[in-house]
Amino acid sequence: MAKIVCVLYDDPMNGYPTSYAREDCPQPEVYPDGQTLPTPKAIDFKPGALLGSVSGELGLRKYLKSNGHTLVVTSSKDGEDSVLDRELADAEIVISQPFWSAYMTAERIAKAKKLKMIVNAGIGSDHTDLQAAMEHNVTVDEVTYCNSNAVAEHVVMSILALVRNFIPSHNWMLKGGWNIADCVSRSYDLEAMSVGTVAAGRIGLRVLRLLKPFGVKLHYLDRHRLPEAVEQELNLTYHSSLESLAKVCDVVTLNCPLHPETEHMINAKTLKFFKRGAYLVNTARGKLCDRDAIVDALESGQLAGYAGDVWFPQPAPQDHPWRTMPHHGMTPHISGTSLSAQARYAAGTREILECYFEDRPIRNEYLIVQNGQLAGVGAHSYSKGNATGGSEEAAKFKKA
Ligand code: NDP
Repeated sequence: MAKIVCVLYDDPMNGYPTSYAREDCPQPEVYPDGQTLPTPKAIDFKPGALLGSVSGELGLRKYLKSNGHTLVVTSSKDGEDSVLDRELADAEIVISQPFWSAYMTAERIAKAKKLKMIVNAGIGSDHTDLQAAMEHNVTVDEVTYCNSNAVAEHVVMSILALVRNFIPSHNWMLKGGWNIADCVSRSYDLEAMSVGTVAAGRIGLRVLRLLKPFGVKLHYLDRHRLPEAVEQELNLTYHSSLESLAKVCDVVTLNCPLHPETEHMINAKTLKFFKRGAYLVNTARGKLCDRDAIVDALESGQLAGYAGDVWFPQPAPQDHPWRTMPHHGMTPHISGTSLSAQARYAAGTREILECYFEDRPIRNEYLIVQNGQLAGVGAHSYSKGNATGGSEEAAKFKKA
């Protein structure tokens, strides 16, 4: 029987919810490209419940227990005395998620002698050292598409919040003011602006589609071009370099995976390509950007605003400069973990576990690493190597 260690974020400060804002939690019937939603044989939770925090347990305990397995659920993941480190020695499966990243470094993978699989209950497996997983023949999978549309909604919200200067205006109301001139002296219309996405995958393409009705000019950069019919439908301009895209865009949004090829793609040098006063929205991964270069660009006015929900490391230490830099619209990593998305990635995790224990193949679209090499979606989207370097800094959050 297997031991499964599942690392989830903490419960709400006032305790696990006993009621919710809504009675139901509508779900799409199918994803936009025709991929089906997760298809486990059964689920033991009500969609709309908080599943992503420790007491929610991704709705997995009944299933795993009834099959004789041991489930350890914890939020303790950083520092040498963490529960994750303590439990790793005989764990067969680790379930991690990007929001409260259980960094599966080479050291941890080497220590986990019985480890067979790392399931990412979400999308974006950069918090696992994929190179080490390949070398130790550990399977890595994620629940592709589970929250792509949820993130795209957050991107559009963030773009509007920055361009319209929404957050400072809202703050004036909380402070008892009516300071219209203070609010609007940084407020513009999105209409007629040029908006570009770095990557037009599931999230990037959805963002382009959602933005079309705003009357903006749409641009994209990707390693592969979209079909001509899609380019025509959305009147897209394709760019083969960041420089070419950034030079013409008023708003740039990053929607590519983090891997060694994309790490720090936004840095002091590439920020010079941007139009002065451009807005940058990054819900993909914090490490796509050089932390201090973003702060400098906001302070100098090279960027008019920066928003997103991804940091490095996660949780962000109290003194992370993105908490206090000017003109930002940052949140903790929430865009892909709405209650609606949780229902999908909890069901997807259950599907992956059922396949594993019943010796059935895991869907190709969920596979990142298998049999010592990048596989399935991973072979398409990631490059070999490791992007977890520096993750030990996450321990500073709890110590502060
Ligand atoms: P997809 O795999 O559908 O899309 C990724 C796209 O990135 C692909 O089109 C890929 O191109 C492109 N790409 C890869 N490398 C580069 C590069 N060097 N330059 C330009 N484009 C590149 O994934 P999703 O859209 O679903 O998710 C994207 C990322 O968003 C995830 O990897 C994750 O990091 C992040 N994410 C964040 C979430 C959150 O909660 N904030 C939740 C979900 C995801 P091609 O296929 O043409 O090679």
